[in-house]
Amino acid sequence: MIPNKVPIRKCIVCSARKPKEEFLMIVRPAKSESGAEIKVMSGEDRKSGRGYYICKDANCIAKAKKTHRIERLLSRKYKFKPERIYELLEKAVRGNE
Ligand SMILES: [Zn+2]
Repeated sequence: MIPNKVPIRKCIVCSARKPKEEFLMIVRPAKSESGAEIKVMSGEDRKSGRGYYICKDANCIAKAKKTHRIERLLSRKYKFKPERIYELLEKAVRGNE
């Protein structure tokens, strides 16, 4: 059973709602940290900055890539290489298998 206090997050691709430890998190740094990189980490990790959640699922990541979901969420304010983010996500998913 899942206790009521488990924080529920929503996938940016498929909108599935799950406890946050079941997601990967894309963390964008606080604006003040100039030059800081966007990171990919496990959903349960503590973070600084704003996080976006995506299922630990190769299908969700493939879909995000195809629809440029992450670029659309982040690119207005940050300069980053989307290929790098997808690469990190794919690597994280493979690490769970
Ligand atoms: Zn999903």
